[in-house]
Amino acid sequence: MQNIFIIYTGGTIGMVKNAETGTFVPFDFELIARNLPDLNRLDYKLTVHSFTPIIDSSDMNPGIWIEMAEIIRDNHDHYDGFVILHGSDTMSFSASILSFMLEGLQKPVILSGSQLPIGEIRTDARENMMTALEIASAKENGKSIVQEVCILFDNKLFRGNRSFKYNSAKFEAFRSPNYPVLAEAGIHINYNREALLDNTDKEFIMHTELDNRVGVLKLFPGISPAFVKAILDSDVRSIVMETFGSGNTMTDQWFLDLLAEAVRSGKNIVDISQCKVGSVELGRYETSQGLKALGILNGYDMTFEAAVTKLIYLQGQLTDQEAVAYWVERDIRGELTVND
Ligand code: ASP
Repeated sequence: MQNIFIIYTGGTIGMVKNAETGTFVPFDFELIARNLPDLNRLDYKLTVHSFTPIIDSSDMNPGIWIEMAEIIRDNHDHYDGFVILHGSDTMSFSASILSFMLEGLQKPVILSGSQLPIGEIRTDARENMMTALEIASAKENGKSIVQEVCILFDNKLFRGNRSFKYNSAKFEAFRSPNYPVLAEAGIHINYNREALLDNTDKEFIMHTELDNRVGVLKLFPGISPAFVKAILDSDVRSIVMETFGSGNTMTDQWFLDLLAEAVRSGKNIVDISQCKVGSVELGRYETSQGLKALGILNGYDMTFEAAVTKLIYLQGQLTDQEAVAYWVERDIRGELTVND
């Protein structure tokens, strides 16, 4: 019999409508269990850990990430897989940071939730949860088929650190356009073996130190020097710079001077694109040629969620800014594809 550990953090899946205000509020796991009698028909042993309080995932924070990682570490050897029930709003951030914190993971950690609460007639919660449980228990030759942190939503399994929430209205809430879907559930669950990570020979190490001194600079035509300066001068160690197309920025001298000054002061600036598909290619256009020379770092095809959480993770491990800069440009958990 498979042993599955469920971590319930909250999210729409377990929410009920407040009769007075009409808003959705988180409710306890009992509500999910009551609405899912099929849970008793499964031939897995389920253990549930509910967070207190359970939250809307917009209230997610590094403290809860550490708690989740510690629960997984403490139970890693006794369970076949983990399912984390989580609101979809920040699910990709949590999946990304957990992928970094859980190095060499050899068991499935599947985040899932739903767009409609479990008590609603047309809910997507039932299917999502049942499929997540099945994937969390799937084994072949004694080894877990999935050995990484993933998101299961609307019958698709995504690498957590490649995914983002792209739709707040459809059941198909997530996408990972820069990396293939890892599995698709229909009559059978078809795994994309070539795309899955194989950590069998790796050592499982959990890292709990995080440093959230990370900022974001999203560019737009007409952005003011004062605003750019305020962001670059802020008290952070690294900045994710969301640029145009394949990593391009304006070429105004004031802008390049401000970037150069920030890099000189020891800040890491990571270039990722505002485009959801494709990769940063520093030097492809004149408008990005100078960035490399200034010491701007290449974020390649990382999602915004992966870039931010990777920096929070790396900064927690490394006090040396140059070491953070070195690792941010390298693939450490399948989160980026280096194209040069
Ligand atoms: N606001 C909810 C949350 O992220 C949305 C959801 O669960 O899908 O917690």
